[in-house]
Amino acid sequence: MIIVFKPTATEEDIDHVVDRLRDLGLRSHMSRGQERTVIGVIGDERLLDHQPISVFPGVESVTPIMAPWRLVSREWQQHDSVITVDGVPIGGKLITVMAGPCAVESLEATVGVAREVKAAGGAILRGGAYKPRTSPYAFQGLGREGLDFLVAAKRETGLPVVSEILDPRDTDVFLEKADIIQIGARNMQNFELLKEVGAYDKPVLLKRGLSATIKEWLLSAEYIVSRGNRHVMLCERGIRTFETHYRNVLDLAAVPTLKALSHLPVIVDPSHATGQWDLVAPMARAAVAAGADGLLIEVHANPECALCDGEESLKPHRFNALMKDLKILARAVGREV
Ligand code: PEP
Ligand code: MN
Repeated sequence: MIIVFKPTATEEDIDHVVDRLRDLGLRSHMSRGQERTVIGVIGDERLLDHQPISVFPGVESVTPIMAPWRLVSREWQQHDSVITVDGVPIGGKLITVMAGPCAVESLEATVGVAREVKAAGGAILRGGAYKPRTSPYAFQGLGREGLDFLVAAKRETGLPVVSEILDPRDTDVFLEKADIIQIGARNMQNFELLKEVGAYDKPVLLKRGLSATIKEWLLSAEYIVSRGNRHVMLCERGIRTFETHYRNVLDLAAVPTLKALSHLPVIVDPSHATGQWDLVAPMARAAVAAGADGLLIEVHANPECALCDGEESLKPHRFNALMKDLKILARAVGREV
């Protein structure tokens, strides 16, 4: 940590900080310039977690050296984390495609779309059983029965499943029936839910909050990892901006940014990021070019009749065509689908 004093700071102000650092077991490396004094703090910065130095008289700025998201940072672990879900690696050379309906609607539809996803080369089946809908009158999902349909689709196809949890009271059922627990955008800062999923080793897909900064997002991931669950992947799903032409704005710069700051796998969801099926394939291709480790794509056999997000869902034949494109693109960037 670097502490910069104001030009007006007195010797007493500086001594006060140095004494406090010493009390906490830290050493100070002092540099006295013509205008200002700067202190480099030597020792474990975590000792200052509960001691805001910036409030001390005479202090102008405090710059931490360590990222506040410690365990998920690149400094902590230089190699990429690879999370293996039922034999499917996420975060390695392979680009993992997770696809399926926004919401689980029926057993037949779920098994049907799972077969299409599998045939096209998708590796994981997605489907929401508990849906976080803006309107209380919109379809809320089939709940536990929906998870059972996903389990049945897994039995038929072998595809592991990812599904969103809304309520920590459902943890047991998710631990039993889902292979990846999704934390949706609306719950990215539901800290109790983050702590809950952090207590197990079940893989977690942590979506970016609607207006969350990279820092807030990484700190949410840190909540989970610091509880002991290292199997976290980040999912960019678009952010809110002034632009209303599409549902959200896909922040593709987040992909290389996160890869530089963190060792966690980065997934991109072009479906919720755009809200329009015709934008999904171009943005999926762009995500692969930007270095994404995986994609989360909504696929529905009959989007016109979908109970949720039909407008952004790909028909199976379009998903299949996209997968072919992705295979070519992946090779161009040294990856595989
Ligand atoms: C979803 O993936 O089903 C979903 C609700 O997405 P988000 O949380 O990104 O809005
Ligand atoms: Mn959706």
